[in-house]
Amino acid sequence: METIEQLLESKDIRVTAMRLLIYKFLAENKAAVTLSNIENAFEKADRTTLYRTIKTFEENDIVHQIDDGTGITKYALCEQGCSCDIKTDLHLHFHCNNCNETVCLTEHKIPQIKVPDGFVSENVNLVVKGICDKCSGQ
Ligand SMILES: [Zn+2]
Ligand SMILES: [Zn+2]
Ligand SMILES: [Zn+2]
Repeated sequence: METIEQLLESKDIRVTAMRLLIYKFLAENKAAVTLSNIENAFEKADRTTLYRTIKTFEENDIVHQIDDGTGITKYALCEQGCSCDIKTDLHLHFHCNNCNETVCLTEHKIPQIKVPDGFVSENVNLVVKGICDKCSGQ
């Protein structure tokens, strides 16, 4: 496993204390996080810095956005080697209707969807909704 520093450097991202902290925060959370989760976790930090950090991570395929239908964008760490490619890297997400958490189901890749000629896919979003293992107690 490469270190977070090596990962950032391999993507030509300058390693800063803030970036390391936010990466660790994302890694510690099994569920996807919202910007306000991040803001609450780093209350003393400048919001613009937090937002820019997430954007930098997103642009470099370190995190991906999740639209779980709640209307609030969530973010989760990408797998190693992910390039957020619509053909190979997108996976299903699971949204719990009880605790509102959303997790990556990375072992379930989204199948290639063939769209009609002239249509161009830019993003695919597949969310399974139900009750998570914590809430179902199993
Ligand atoms: Zn990705
Ligand atoms: Zn739940
Ligand atoms: Zn995901």
